[in-house]
Amino acid sequence: MNLREEALKEVIERDFTKNPNPTSKQGYNILDIFGINVFNDAAMAKYLPYSAYQKLKKIIREGGTIDEQLAEEVAHGVKEWAIDKGATHYTHWFQPMTGLTAEKHDSFLSFDSKGVPINRFSGKNLRQGEPDASRFPSGGIRATFEARGYTAWDPTSPIFIVENINGATLCVPTIFLSYTGEALDKKTPLLRSMEAVNKAALRILKIFGNDKVARVYSTVGPEQEYFLIDKAYYYRRPDLLLTGRTLFGAPSPKGQQMEDHYFGSIRERILAFMQDVEKELFKLGIPAKTRHNEVAPAQFEIAPIFEDSNIATDHNQLVMETLKKTAARYNLALLLHEKPFAGINGSGKHNNWSLSDSDGNNLLDPGKTPHANLQFLTFLTATIKAVYKYADLMRAAVATAGNDHRLGANEAPPAIISVYLGEQLTSIVEAIISNKKVEYTDEQIIKLGISNLPVISKDTTDRNRTSPFAFTGNKFEFRAVGSSMSIAPANTIINTAVANILDEFASEIEDNLKKGKELNQAVMSVITEAIKESKPILFEGNNYSPEWEKEAEKRGLPNYKTTPEALKAWVSKKNIEALTKFGILSDREIHSRYHIYLEQYSKLVNIEAEAALMIAKTMILPAVLKYETELAANVATLASTGVKTSTKSLLESYSAKVEEFQNLISKLETTLENTQSIEDIEKQAEEYCKKVLPAMLELRKVADTLEQETDDKIWPLPKYREMLFIY
Ligand code: ADP
Ligand code: MG
Repeated sequence: MNLREEALKEVIERDFTKNPNPTSKQGYNILDIFGINVFNDAAMAKYLPYSAYQKLKKIIREGGTIDEQLAEEVAHGVKEWAIDKGATHYTHWFQPMTGLTAEKHDSFLSFDSKGVPINRFSGKNLRQGEPDASRFPSGGIRATFEARGYTAWDPTSPIFIVENINGATLCVPTIFLSYTGEALDKKTPLLRSMEAVNKAALRILKIFGNDKVARVYSTVGPEQEYFLIDKAYYYRRPDLLLTGRTLFGAPSPKGQQMEDHYFGSIRERILAFMQDVEKELFKLGIPAKTRHNEVAPAQFEIAPIFEDSNIATDHNQLVMETLKKTAARYNLALLLHEKPFAGINGSGKHNNWSLSDSDGNNLLDPGKTPHANLQFLTFLTATIKAVYKYADLMRAAVATAGNDHRLGANEAPPAIISVYLGEQLTSIVEAIISNKKVEYTDEQIIKLGISNLPVISKDTTDRNRTSPFAFTGNKFEFRAVGSSMSIAPANTIINTAVANILDEFASEIEDNLKKGKELNQAVMSVITEAIKESKPILFEGNNYSPEWEKEAEKRGLPNYKTTPEALKAWVSKKNIEALTKFGILSDREIHSRYHIYLEQYSKLVNIEAEAALMIAKTMILPAVLKYETELAANVATLASTGVKTSTKSLLESYSAKVEEFQNLISKLETTLENTQSIEDIEKQAEEYCKKVLPAMLELRKVADTLEQETDDKIWPLPKYREMLFIY
C-alpha cells in the first residue's frame, strides 16, 4: 500500500461515532453554560470586594489606570475564581506579529515564608509579564542586547479559562510591548485606533447635540470560513501540513459546479464537530450564532453575533483555535488557509463593521428616513470618504501570500477596493450631489402573492456579493480579509481611516457653525463636498467583470494584485500621516511592520517552494518513473510478440512530460537559489512573487497532467476527489 491507499483505508474504516465518546449526545440550554469560563460581571460581583468591583467596572467602561491595590484585589479574586474552576496555571495571552496567539504558562504554586506550598497570583502577575521578546518578530525595533518585552493586562477584554483534557488554564488578555514601549503585537494599534475613533465620533455627536454619550466604539462580527478534511489525508500531504495549501493536485471531475454544497444539509460527523465547537465557544462567552455549509465541497462557516472590536478580535482568535483543537478530536484537519485547493473557492472572513455608542445605538443605522437623518448621513459619508482616501491602506492590511490567491480570483472581492451602497442609499447620495429633494417610499414590501404567509419587508439594500466593502443595511461588510488572518489589522485601519475623516468633518462643521451657518447647512455643505470628492470609490456593478478593472483604472483607484506591491502603502507619506496623527502607530512602528510583513511573505513563499521541490523530487518523480518503466516494459513485451500496439506513442508522450517535469524541477531550484541570495528585502519579496511563484505553478501544471495520466494505484498523494468528498 502506498501512502494514499493507507489514507483511504483509514478514512473508510473510520467510525466517528466512537470518537469522541458518544455519551455527549445530549441537548442543553445555552444559558446554562454561556460564559461560565469567563471572569464576567457575575464572577466579578461574586469574587471581588464591592469597592474593587465598582472601580474595575468603571475603568473597563470609561478607561483609567488600575492602581496597585486594585490590581492586588482583582488578582486575588481572579485566582480564587480560577481555582474553583480547576485552573492550576495562568498565562498572559497575547497576539504577536506572527498573527497567532502566544502563551507561556506559570503555575500558581509558591511557598510561604515557612516553606508551606500555597497558591499565589499577585497584582503584578496580573498586570505585567516579561516574555523574552527576542523570539518574536519585531522588524528591527528590538535591539539584540535588549531582549526584554512586556505583556500588559488589557482589562477591556475579559479574563477567561481554557479547559483541556487534563486541567484548566487561566488566560489574561494582554498587549505586547518592547522595552522602549513600542507595539510588538496586533492588539495595541487596534486599541489605539478604537480610542481615536471614539474621540472623533464623540466630536461629531456633540455637534448633533448628543453630549450625554460616554463612548463610541467600533463593532465587528467576523464570519469565519474554513475547510475540514480527514486527518488521514492531511498527514500524508506534506504540502498541507507545512504550508496549509495543496501545492499539487489535479482538479476533481466534480468540484463545486453542481452548487450542491452551499447551505446543504450538514453531514452528521461535521454537525457533531460543530456542536462540540459551539459548546466550547459558549463556555468562553463567545456568541456563536450561525453555522452552515459553504460554497466549496468540504467548506463551512461559523458566524458570531457582533461585539466590540477588541473583544471580537480576541474571540475570533479563540474561534480559530477552538475549531482546530476540536477538529483533531474528530480526526479532522482544519484548513484555515485562504486557498487550500486550486480551482475551488477559497476561504475569507467577512468583517462586518459598524460604530456604536455606549447606549447601544448603531451610528450606521439609517432609521426609517435616512434622507432626513443627518447624523447617519454624516457617519455614512465619513466612512465612504475614509475608504476612498485610504483604499490602498485597507488593501495593505489584508495583504498576505495566502490572500493573494483569493483577491482577484473571481470568488472573493477583487484587489480593487470600492464601496457598494445599494439602490436606496445611492439615490440619496445622488440627490445630495445634485442638490435635489429625495423621493422616498416609506417601506418597500415584497408582494408574495400567497395570502396566508406573513408580509416580508424588503431589506433596504440589495446584496452585491462581489463588492469588497458593502453597506448591508446598518453596517459595512469588508470582505477582503483572509480566513487565517487576525482581524486586528483590518479593523485598525478602518478605525484609523474613519477617525481621520470624522475628525476632519468635525473641524469643518464647527468652522461653518462659527461662520454663522445653521446646523443643517453647516453639515450638508461638508457632506456634499465629501461625497462629490469620493464618488470614484462608489461602485454598484459586478466587481468581477473585466470592464470594472478598466473603469477603476480610469477612476484612478489603486489595484495592487500582489502582496509586495500592496504592502508599500504602509509607508506612503499620506498613510504614515494618518497613522501617526492619532498615535495609532509611530513612524518606527510602521516601518518595522512593513519590514515584518515583507519578510513573512518571503519566508512563506520560500517554504512553499522548498516543499514543492521536496514533493516533486521524493514523491511524484519516483511514482512517474515507476509508471514510465511499466509502460516501457509493456512496449518491450508487446514488441517481442510482434503485436501491433499504440503503447509506444503513449510511452513517448508520457516520457516527454516526465522529462519536462524534471527540467522544471531544475528551473525552480535555480530560481529559488537566486532569490534566496538577494539581500534587499523589498527586491527579494518581489522576486519571490514574480519568479518563484510562477516557477512553482509551471511545475505544478505538468505534475497535475501527469497525475491524470498515471496509474491510480501508483499515485502517492491523496487526490482532490478524495480529500473533498470522502469524509
Ligand atoms: P449575512 O451578511 O451573511 O447575510 P447577517 O447580516 O446576519 O449575515 O450578519 C452577518 C454578521 O454581521 C453577523 O456576525 C452579525 O453579528 C454582524 N453584524 C450585524 N450587525 C452588526 C453591527 N452593527 N456591527 C458589526 N457587525 C454586525
Ligand atoms: Mg455576510
